[in-house]
Amino acid sequence: MEMEKNHKILFEPLKIGPKTTKNRFYQVPHCNGMGHRWPRTMAEMRGVKAEGGWGVVCTEECSIHPTSDLTPATLMRLWDDSDLPVHELMINKVHEHGALAGIQLVHNGQSVSNYLSRMPALAPSPCPTETANSTQARGMDKEDIKVLRRWFREAAIRSQRAGYDIIYVYAAHGIMTLLYQFILKRYNQRTDEYGGSLENRVRLVREILEDTKDAVGQDCAVAFRFAVDELLGEDGMHPAEAEDIVGTLAEVPDLWDVNVADWGNDSLPSRFGVEGAQEKYIKFVKGITTKPVVGVGRFTSPDIMASQINRGVLDLIGAARPSIADPFLPKKIQEGRSNEIRECIGCNMCTTGDYVAYPMRCTQNPTMGEEWRKGWHPEKIPLAKSKDTILVVGGGPTGLEATLALSNRSYDVTLAEARNEMGGRVLSETKLGPLRQWKRVADYRTSMLSNRSNVDSFTQSKMDVDAILELGANHVAMATGSKWRLDLLGIHHRFKDVKIHAPMMISPEQIMLGHTPTDHVLIFDDDHYYLGSALAEQLAELGLKVTLVTPAPEVSGWTHFSLEYEHIQIKLRELGVTIICNHGIAQIGDGFVDLSCVFVGTKQRVEVNTVVPVTSRISQDDLYYKVLARRQEWQDNGIKSVTRIGDCYAPGTIAMAVYAGHEFARNLDMPINADIPFRRENDFELGRSWQGFKT
Ligand code: ADP
Ligand code: SF4
Repeated sequence: MEMEKNHKILFEPLKIGPKTTKNRFYQVPHCNGMGHRWPRTMAEMRGVKAEGGWGVVCTEECSIHPTSDLTPATLMRLWDDSDLPVHELMINKVHEHGALAGIQLVHNGQSVSNYLSRMPALAPSPCPTETANSTQARGMDKEDIKVLRRWFREAAIRSQRAGYDIIYVYAAHGIMTLLYQFILKRYNQRTDEYGGSLENRVRLVREILEDTKDAVGQDCAVAFRFAVDELLGEDGMHPAEAEDIVGTLAEVPDLWDVNVADWGNDSLPSRFGVEGAQEKYIKFVKGITTKPVVGVGRFTSPDIMASQINRGVLDLIGAARPSIADPFLPKKIQEGRSNEIRECIGCNMCTTGDYVAYPMRCTQNPTMGEEWRKGWHPEKIPLAKSKDTILVVGGGPTGLEATLALSNRSYDVTLAEARNEMGGRVLSETKLGPLRQWKRVADYRTSMLSNRSNVDSFTQSKMDVDAILELGANHVAMATGSKWRLDLLGIHHRFKDVKIHAPMMISPEQIMLGHTPTDHVLIFDDDHYYLGSALAEQLAELGLKVTLVTPAPEVSGWTHFSLEYEHIQIKLRELGVTIICNHGIAQIGDGFVDLSCVFVGTKQRVEVNTVVPVTSRISQDDLYYKVLARRQEWQDNGIKSVTRIGDCYAPGTIAMAVYAGHEFARNLDMPINADIPFRRENDFELGRSWQGFKT
């Protein structure tokens, strides 16, 4: 197929300082939870993106010195030459496919733990560190500033030696970077030439930009990542100040990488913003500088990308999440296969990897993070080892992904779904307004399956044991999902010890299917992720009085990691939802709920009409056990295996469901070490195989 004419502009080369990128697809620096701890995992992941057509592929933030130690987070480091092999590994993978490699050097100032280095943190002015562990950052004196400039220069030279093409000076993402802390009034109370006026607050960043250009500018492009707005009004970086800064530094860097702060506004969850949401903040930049500008906006539509360039908003289409969800996005556009793009849903499961310090995963892309350790490629999959046929029961995210991946392997697959539409929990959950865009999980897969000659898919086809035996597929995958419990059993209520007036109870699924309770609803959230607050938001929007109760000290606590937390808190308060934390349930009576303080057991009565418990789920595995019970009939019907997968096996996130479906398809007929089904990395292994790596 041919590329669409109006997308051609996305494939025009562009000069960035002394380097030229082959196209306009630019993977901006993004964290991944792999970094220095799982370097092969990280390098392969970046290499696959280069293979997928991204013209530029950058690292995550890379600490330049042990005073900027983010332990336990797993990011890149460039403290001395012993870190170089990790970088070389990645650079080689990126260069192999003709992409430019960029590195985002950083000192995190007061936003560090220094748990590993045990060195005092640095800041423009004395202040507590962001770790909130009773530790202060030291206000930097002039000598410290001189030394800091040396560290940056040395890191830039090391980056050049390693082979990077683009070297970043980084002042963005709110409190996260020392150079931004110098620029921002609220962190910089200095009275010398590095504090006070805007010119003074920008001085350090200017010096480091000039030092970097002086040190490596002949060979490497120097990029400046700058957040033009913190969305805090005059209290933070705001448009007037940002315009002055872009004006004063306009021609200093070779590339402007611009965004909004903090990270939760930059990687805005789809629940709170649409594609291209940053345009209104960053569009002024191109009017001030002649240097190329890159920006992000969860871009997945090539038409919108082309329009960004045609309208002079951006020169390069920056992407973190869209490149994670589909590393082959550029190639698909180039080959006229835009309809095959696996679009990011904006759930931010990927950002949790950085926060929780594990290798990143993606809801849409099950191969993300598995490129090296399992050898999973997003576009290639081993062909079937046999002519076996497969029946997949259940068309939720697990069943859909299993069917797609099995079909890609060229197996003949029958997919049977009881409801009148595919999608399972995704179909239900996206009936809640806030989660609308997550429907892409089902849409991508149903659209990819629509013309497959080796797939028969049926809706309104509830399977029972007889139907399964009769169909006689060689392998049966039970992807029949799970259901939310009504008995409150969860993290807080471990035993079924709460007296419950059953007619008061409504399940989350019933709300999703359109059952609207009356008057006053109490949602009991012991799940702590998105669903409790999404239900509260939906019901409050419908005009109901909503009380959200949780045994945790905060609502939706896990969403800290998906960057939804602050947005959720604001939204719930805007909608007038009553929030009660640190409470379990003592009893649910007719028209009331008695809450119980988790610390001292003090009771509190709330009069409500309905209770929606979001505590835990039960696997829908009855059918699986019924089929097992008739094992003696399998052989006559051609059945070789019956396997539970996804939520039917172990309820989890949508990301886990998609992953489970993919894993089933990958592993079928393959020799897999079930005990440890992935390759591991450790220092010994690295020390042995990398020249120059010191153990
Ligand atoms: P998962 O997240 O593992 O995909 P879901 O709950 O999203 O699980 O999806 C399970 C799907 O299985 C639902 O769409 C449900 O309608 C379907 N299902 C459950 N039991 C049967 C059955 N006996 N026959 C066909 N489909 C079924
Ligand atoms: Fe997008 Fe979610 Fe994947 Fe992140 S995890 S890239 S937000 S689909």
